[in-house]
Amino acid sequence: MPEGLDVHTQNTNINQAIQRTEELRRLIEHHNFCYYVLDRPEVSDEAYDELFRELEQLETQFPELVSSDSPTRKVGAPPSTEFKEVRHRIPLMSLSNAMSFEELERWEERLTRALGLEAGLPNGLSYLCELKIDGLSVALTYKKGRLVQGATRGNGEVGEDVTLNVMTIQGLPITIRSAKGSRVPDLLEVRGEVYMSVSSFRRLNAELEEVGHQTFANPRNAASGSLRQKDPRVTSRRKLSFWAYFAYLTDPLVAEPTSHEASLRLLEDFGFLVNANRKPAKNLNEVKEFCRYWDSKRFMLDYQTDGVVVKVDDRTLWDRLGATAHSPRWAIAFKYPPEEAETIVEDIQFDVGRTGAVTPVAWLKPVRLAGTTVKRASLHNAEQIKRLDVRIGDTVLVRKAGEIIPEVISVKLDKRTSYCQPFAYITNCPACNSILTRAGEEVAFRCPNTYVCPAQRQRRLEHYVSRDAMDIEGMGEALIKQLLDSRLVQDPPDLYFLTEDQLLALERMGAKSAHNVLKAIKDSKQRLLSNLIYALGIRHVGSSASELLADKFNSIEALSQANESQLTEIEGIGPTIAAAILEFFDHPVNKDLLHRLSQAGVLLASDKTSSASVRQTLAGKTFVLTGTLLSMERSQAEKLIKARGGKAASSVGKGTDYVVAGTNPGSKLTHAHQLGVTIVNEAEFKKLLEVDN
Ligand code: NAD
Repeated sequence: MPEGLDVHTQNTNINQAIQRTEELRRLIEHHNFCYYVLDRPEVSDEAYDELFRELEQLETQFPELVSSDSPTRKVGAPPSTEFKEVRHRIPLMSLSNAMSFEELERWEERLTRALGLEAGLPNGLSYLCELKIDGLSVALTYKKGRLVQGATRGNGEVGEDVTLNVMTIQGLPITIRSAKGSRVPDLLEVRGEVYMSVSSFRRLNAELEEVGHQTFANPRNAASGSLRQKDPRVTSRRKLSFWAYFAYLTDPLVAEPTSHEASLRLLEDFGFLVNANRKPAKNLNEVKEFCRYWDSKRFMLDYQTDGVVVKVDDRTLWDRLGATAHSPRWAIAFKYPPEEAETIVEDIQFDVGRTGAVTPVAWLKPVRLAGTTVKRASLHNAEQIKRLDVRIGDTVLVRKAGEIIPEVISVKLDKRTSYCQPFAYITNCPACNSILTRAGEEVAFRCPNTYVCPAQRQRRLEHYVSRDAMDIEGMGEALIKQLLDSRLVQDPPDLYFLTEDQLLALERMGAKSAHNVLKAIKDSKQRLLSNLIYALGIRHVGSSASELLADKFNSIEALSQANESQLTEIEGIGPTIAAAILEFFDHPVNKDLLHRLSQAGVLLASDKTSSASVRQTLAGKTFVLTGTLLSMERSQAEKLIKARGGKAASSVGKGTDYVVAGTNPGSKLTHAHQLGVTIVNEAEFKKLLEVDN
């Protein structure tokens, strides 16, 4: 109890502290549940961290309030009951944080004391600096080189079994081989971060928004929500990635590396991806230099980092330093402060998406934020505008949510002037004036004028020419707008009838560009069937569903004649997608569109050309493919197997030698796992085929 206070004041203080401690614990447990279990945080990380620090301070000030079940003494949250539980062999801990260089220095002082080194003198400690990847940690267990278990951190002692889900992550080895010829350990536990790249996160949120589903707050929550799925096929569609950062070996014949950097190199030899943006530091000054360097550079990465993890490099010291109930003493996370800025809302406008969904956008007085100049910020939907009561002319606080999408987080009411009038949400489409509608559970308002609304036409054409669709290079947003405005193009088939003269008549169009665009349009006639299906922009049909449909039907003609049960018997095609497909092909506008695409010479069926024969390296081997391969079509993969003497079967059985797991694998992956069939990912498959990666 603090000294120098009278008994009454002390009692008042302790009573208030007890009350506040209880309140903070309740609040933090609630936010832990929302964040770790539901993947839907209700408050920002900074607001959470403030509560956490307040609790830590109270527990330091009043040690009698410390209790073993306080969130400050625990890790994460209990695992969800949706998954099988996994008890970790070695607990998975959190990391203690340093919010400033002074806190890093205090950490080093604690290390020095704990190791009995002389304070203030060169202590010989060296560190490894790694970027702190904002995802979720998983523990992977490999027995004799084969992945047998993947588990989330959970509460550190018990996690969730996500084995099949982690198997769908591109680049995460399912079997390991030692490239340098050293022995593969009997038992290997690899720890690392499952994360979602910024580009995948953007794509996922755009898709979710388009179908009227709730979006994720940041890539970290998106990664966690995507990994912790009951159905591994959902996980695989979400394009997760993995970086390894710890190795624990158990094998009498393989020595555990003594430095952390050496253990990371060993992981690289085993085929794991380890983030190359790491650096050994001979002292704390070099650590600080690394932190300073990445403070601005991190915004150029396609993944999110919220700090730097500093680890004592000498692993023999890890045991000596030990851990608290919450985190190891030999590592610390240096966290960057949140990126926020104040600016003025100059206007509120509305974007109309490909499927008519309307999104309000705040146009801001340009402001520097997280390494870029921000001019626009999403206001998400009508509810958000109402909740914030944001008005044109308001001074607002903007933040890059998860350092990515600028978002208006609050209005500075003290700076509001009488000119700022309440904002009335639009009732009509800003592009075609149709009355907006809102379906039952959807949050977004939509323009129902699907085929005529110029904004939807523009977005549909942008989608048609995009990389994952018909990939027409040089056909950007501006050119599409010019073509629509000049009425040369109304919909995709019109593109194929454009002439050089028509293009040259457009402003800012040179002869070379016109030639290149026409060539790109012509080349797109030969795109794969799956690309075309995706390009058509059928609601709910993303690129993976398009692959499944192309695989099953082989032509647009066959797909257009499919009935509901033929569609839903495909794994991965549910009733919502099936209904959207039936509606699409039933509409006269689309029938006409397909007819004109065919007249234009666009390939409306799978190409069945055969490949040349090669060495019979796969003779006698039976393969089953499941999911989508990123670098080749399934039909092409099957051809490559057959060309090498192998067999491509459609279901997994005792005679299956390999199951190739692409993204979005089906139940074949589960069967393979149950039968103990060797599962390979795309990179491993390509090694077997001996084709270049
Ligand atoms: P943390 O995220 O601060 O640090 C620990 C984690 O860092 C590890 O578990 C690991 O997953 C990760 N990590 C990334 N790169 C790493 C590397 N190279 N080496 C080692 N580990 C690496 O701690 P935490 O316990 O996972 O989460 C606490 C934080 O989560 C809080 O500070 C807060 O920001 C956030 N949180 C927010 C809410 C909310 O409601 N907004 C709720 C709970 C937690």
